[in-house]
Amino acid sequence: MNIVILGAGQAAASLAARLRALGHTGGVTVIGDEPAPPYQRPPLSKAYLLGEMGLDRLTLRAPDWWQEQGITLRLGCRATAIDRARREVQTDAGPLPYDALALTLGAAPRRLPAAMGGDLAHVHVVRDLADIAGLRPAMGTGRRLVVIGGGYVGLEAAAVARKLGLEVTLVEAAPRILGRVAAPQTADMIRALQERHGVRIIEGTAITGISDGVALADGRVLPADLVICGIGVSPRTALAEAAGLQIDNGIAVDAQGRSSDPAIWAAGDCASFPGPDGRMRLESVGNAIDMAETVAANMLGAATPYVPKPWFWSDQFDAKLQIAGLNAGYDRVVTRPGSVWYYRAGRLIAVDALNDARAYMIGKRLIEAGTSPLPETVASATDLKALL
Ligand code: NAP
Repeated sequence: MNIVILGAGQAAASLAARLRALGHTGGVTVIGDEPAPPYQRPPLSKAYLLGEMGLDRLTLRAPDWWQEQGITLRLGCRATAIDRARREVQTDAGPLPYDALALTLGAAPRRLPAAMGGDLAHVHVVRDLADIAGLRPAMGTGRRLVVIGGGYVGLEAAAVARKLGLEVTLVEAAPRILGRVAAPQTADMIRALQERHGVRIIEGTAITGISDGVALADGRVLPADLVICGIGVSPRTALAEAAGLQIDNGIAVDAQGRSSDPAIWAAGDCASFPGPDGRMRLESVGNAIDMAETVAANMLGAATPYVPKPWFWSDQFDAKLQIAGLNAGYDRVVTRPGSVWYYRAGRLIAVDALNDARAYMIGKRLIEAGTSPLPETVASATDLKALL
């Protein structure tokens, strides 16, 4: 069986490696439009942006490894269409036949419209190596940075910029930072951390446009030598959509990762899969790895449903935020110093831990085991280990 993988990020690398580990001896070709071989994205807004990590450590596998594994990498190659009837991917370097196709296309950073100044040269996003190559030289000490968006990209980039000596203001349109991903209690800890390190945070204020400065809806204009937009991502679905595959907040796949065409599979940021509350799509490296590995096994006939075990982390200044589980639909929050525990209908569903690896580890084990200590017990426990 000849397998083609479209997209050359973390999910592609994990999927290809797992195919070989499971004994697949047929062809495996990975097609990516970036020139670099698959690399880790999380450090792009952390150690790599700061300059503390080199490209060698960012790269997932050395060039020799791909060769040894008999995996063909076609980099700098753009797929233009999927011809499902002929089972062929059209690329700018010619057609490529497949027996089974995996879409690991990831997500594209949202940009502000050109009419708002979103395409100006000093407005940056943080998603791939080329973005960092353009951004890093602009991050000179003393320069004035405005970060738009108070999600992880914005907060991590703000932390790096402060370490590099920039003046940083972060603007969030929603009433508070981390509105999409965390409870107010976690946002409070992160806001305090950021402000302690000199980041000015403006919440509940939309921007109306960027020129030399960033204009806010309340009439203020923030001077800016450079701007970073961390305003979310959209799953890359255009190729799948043009090929007539079902799309529903991402490329819609079944529990095994198969799309509406049985010969085409999807994994990672670009894929939406059935969850307990309907379709879900996860944007995280953990999901990219685990889902890709399950899909690899299923492409070879395993028929295993994908059950995510979500975890996330964020490095900001000297702090590490670790998150286990998903807090969607939480109706109660219990706090301990350094950790926030989310419950839904009496069930523990997620834990955010700031510089508290023990709370993270214990919370993760409880969630994965489906064990829910009483909220009162969590709040008052002197030794969290007793909860296990
Ligand atoms: P995000 O988590 O979706 O956060 C974007 C934030 O920007 C949201 O709070 C959003 O508010 C806000 N926003 C949207 N439009 C805005 C506007 N016009 N003005 C001001 N604020 C605006 O996305 P992200 O931070 O860009 O990150 C992109 C992806 O990479 C996400 O999947 C993220 O989880 C992932 N990532 C993860 C990590 C990590 O786990 N450590 C680090 C970096 C990136 P609304 O929700 O109200 O729209």
